[in-house]
Amino acid sequence: MDTPNTTTDAGIPAPSDDHSLTVGSDGPILLQDHYLIQKMAQFNRERVPERVVHAKGAGAHGTFEVFPDAETPAWTKADFLQPGKKTEMFARFSTVAGELGSADTVRDPRGFSLKFYTDEGNYDLVGNNTPIFFVKDPNKFQDFIHSQKRRSDTGRRDNNMQWDFWTLRRESTHQVAFLMSDRGTPRTLRNMNGYGSHTFTWINAEGEAFYVKYHFKTDQGIDNFTAEEADQHTMVDADFHRADLWNAIEGGNFPSWTLEMQIMPVDEVDDYRFNPFDLTKVWPHSDYPPVKIGRMTLNRNPSDYFAEVEQAAFEPSNMVPGIEASPDKMLLGRLFSYPDTHRHRIGANYMQLPINRPKAEVNSYNKDGQMRYENPGDPVYAPNSVGGPHADEERFGEDFTPTVQGHFTREPARQHSPEDNDTAQVTSFWEQVLTEDERTNMVSNIVGHAGADEVTDEMKERVISYWTDVADDLGKRVADGLRADADETAGDNR
Ligand code: NDP
Repeated sequence: MDTPNTTTDAGIPAPSDDHSLTVGSDGPILLQDHYLIQKMAQFNRERVPERVVHAKGAGAHGTFEVFPDAETPAWTKADFLQPGKKTEMFARFSTVAGELGSADTVRDPRGFSLKFYTDEGNYDLVGNNTPIFFVKDPNKFQDFIHSQKRRSDTGRRDNNMQWDFWTLRRESTHQVAFLMSDRGTPRTLRNMNGYGSHTFTWINAEGEAFYVKYHFKTDQGIDNFTAEEADQHTMVDADFHRADLWNAIEGGNFPSWTLEMQIMPVDEVDDYRFNPFDLTKVWPHSDYPPVKIGRMTLNRNPSDYFAEVEQAAFEPSNMVPGIEASPDKMLLGRLFSYPDTHRHRIGANYMQLPINRPKAEVNSYNKDGQMRYENPGDPVYAPNSVGGPHADEERFGEDFTPTVQGHFTREPARQHSPEDNDTAQVTSFWEQVLTEDERTNMVSNIVGHAGADEVTDEMKERVISYWTDVADDLGKRVADGLRADADETAGDNR
């Protein structure tokens, strides 16, 4: 076959693919074998640090198309959300706690990160397959993740540590219920929903603001593994979800999700029955019925996993005109945390990599730094008198500027009513949303997890009280399961 000659990374024809340059066939290797040295040095530097969370993932390219009859102009002026608009995008799905080589099918929330290459710059929505989260203040995020990852001493994950954190932070109950339900083990990445989870602000062309929540509903239908099925797949193929997504797209079976929005006029916030910026709560559909906006379709596999999936950098701080943050404390914390991790993990100029590079023109005054390959050129400062870019504050300054008053304080966000507690929504999830089969599975999953050898008796009592606070029958079923488990173990040891 007529193949091109191998070259060094400088494009110089390489002398050999097979043999190092030596003095005689058995002799020492010569330092001037530049290609060999380049191969060894480059190999040693192949890895960038893996993500501390969401390390294991799969990604694909696609498009997002707004329905021609969408009513979005009433709520946002964001160009890519106007009726009929089609925008290129990239999606990355992931587990949370496991490392790069860990199994796809373990019980875990799934990341659901989207990058829209809009004409007004990149818009990133960095969500999960759950509409809520374990904690509501960014001060608790690192502690939460530490409790879910490996212990310092054994280097192993520890269910006792996980329940210790959860039971001491009752705000986690809603998300732990989701995690222990069948949705904790999605069958494929195509069969799960994605949620922006936080509350965001949309602003229309008239300057009116709305608080909103994003729901990407799978068009493939929700489908989950039972715990046993998930365990089986974990044993057989660690990359099961990655393979499924790839094969579906390769076979022309393009997965899609319909975007539905919940929309709350800003003047309804103060009188709402709970704090709508609390990331551990959903907005009930009956209060704010989801409205269909558009569809995202994934239709192209990455051609280079490292370049496109591993180096994809999503950050909630990438918001385009017509979309702004909200007082959700977790969101505000993440606005800092994501770009910070990318600078550490990939380097200061991660935005210039093809997967992260906006399709829109970049005219910033940032320059130089490691791996920068293109600068804006002169002038390098603003203001200047030589025709450099200038920011039009009138057009692009913050549109929504609510008045906020208060003294510096460290306290939970304001509760709106007694309903604004950690368990009310979990009770309705348990009593009204789950089928009896799903309840049985959830109890069995809790018992399986809290029944692990390392979980102490004292911790098991705390687990029972945690679920009894949601519903007496749930607490009783968990208690019965844990006791039956303990009796069985005692029997085994006799
Ligand atoms: P609804 O009856 O209107 O909605 C319940 C929603 O729960 C469904 O629309 C579906 O949302 C989701 N759901 C259904 N089955 C399951 C399941 N097995 N596991 C997880 N979620 C499921 O009630 P409300 O809106 O008043 O919510 C009641 C409770 O439902 C909430 O407290 C929350 O626990 C849960 N829930 C609510 C969501 C919301 O945004 N309002 C979203 C998800 C769960 P979807 O189609 O988005 O999956």
